[in-house]
Amino acid sequence: MPSKSTDHPNPHPADRELLKLREAIDAIDHDMVALLKERQEQVDRVVALKRAHGLPVYHPAREENLISEKRRTARAVGLDPDFLEDIFRRILRQSRVEQAAQLSRQGTKPGARLLVVGGQGAMGRYLVRWFSESGYRVRTLDRNDWDHAAALCDGIDLALLSVPIDSTAAVVERLAPHLPADCVLSDITSLKAAPMAAMLEAHPGPVVGLHPLFGPATTSLDKQVIIASPGRQAVECQWLLDQFTAWGVIVIPCDPAEHDDVMAVIQALRHFATFSFGKFLFEQDVPLDRTLEFSSPIYRLELGMVGRLFAQDPSLYSEIIKASPERRQLLRDYLASLQDSLALIETGDKAAFENVFRKVADWFDPFSGQALRETTFLIDKLIERF
Ligand code: NAD
Repeated sequence: MPSKSTDHPNPHPADRELLKLREAIDAIDHDMVALLKERQEQVDRVVALKRAHGLPVYHPAREENLISEKRRTARAVGLDPDFLEDIFRRILRQSRVEQAAQLSRQGTKPGARLLVVGGQGAMGRYLVRWFSESGYRVRTLDRNDWDHAAALCDGIDLALLSVPIDSTAAVVERLAPHLPADCVLSDITSLKAAPMAAMLEAHPGPVVGLHPLFGPATTSLDKQVIIASPGRQAVECQWLLDQFTAWGVIVIPCDPAEHDDVMAVIQALRHFATFSFGKFLFEQDVPLDRTLEFSSPIYRLELGMVGRLFAQDPSLYSEIIKASPERRQLLRDYLASLQDSLALIETGDKAAFENVFRKVADWFDPFSGQALRETTFLIDKLIERF
């Protein structure tokens, strides 16, 4: 670090000018902080308005327009549009997180009574915290509380099931006789068809099935996704969906059968492939540190995903992977496909391999641009931070 010109025995001729420039930069940084603070105050006013009118936090169209406009401005003034987009996306996210934190303090049905079944579990405790902080009166029922089921269900507006996948149907059957007729019955099971059928069969009142695509370690619900399967009396269930929206969640409506088909790929197949890859590395006793030293950031990213899976609860993953006969069939089909790929390699036929590669590439083509853009962004972030 060069010292200040006044301390140096032989000051460089540029020192004085450098000092002046650095002071100007410091003043600009200071102004930027003051402007961010001012921006935050405007956001607080928006929050007050949204709260008064029950509007959601996230306004996708407005955010995309704003980003496009900033990119245009960047080009016009000779700044890198990607750089400006990066900064504004970070500012917008911060603003959403703060809006959601403030808006969530007020429930969409404040004072409503909730019963979280499985309330001692990982997701149960998580939901209890979010609902309690938003002014709901929350009770829990776990496996040893069934003797008090009738009292716990008395006067509740919502029963939310957060029990293991293979217990959901039995819990619904046991709980339903105690539920008030107008109580909303809902669940967060990672499968939807079977739990929805059980809830609709057992409870004649409002029913909506949910599947949060986030776990209990998620600190902000900003832009997290929940799949919502409509069951019965959608109007009576709407406040529950609005509550998640107020927390910043994006609620995606989906029929239970379609949910299960798509999730078989997103969860069962992907987790199985990740599990198998990690298990194989373990069996081969691969020196992970060394592979990381020799590797590109993309390998680091991929290995990170494998390490992430093994940092979590095994029972959740075993449940998700083996959840239904259809999921297990999908995994057998995957294994057969892997064997085909190996057979292809063993023939040594380079042209045949390239032919298959091109076919798959053509099929992936509509997604390729997005895949490249998003992974390049992630890799850049990884390099920037670690
Ligand atoms: P968990 O094992 O941590 O919690 C389950 C809770 O249910 C436990 O407290 C258990 O004692 C209780 N329970 C079991 N049987 C019961 C019974 N008969 N009566 C009353 N309570 C009973 O599991 P979790 O990870 O919290 O998952 C709960 C549900 O949430 C599952 O259906 C899962 O598919 C879904 N889910 C989990 C995640 C996640 O990341 N953990 C994400 C989305 C959805």
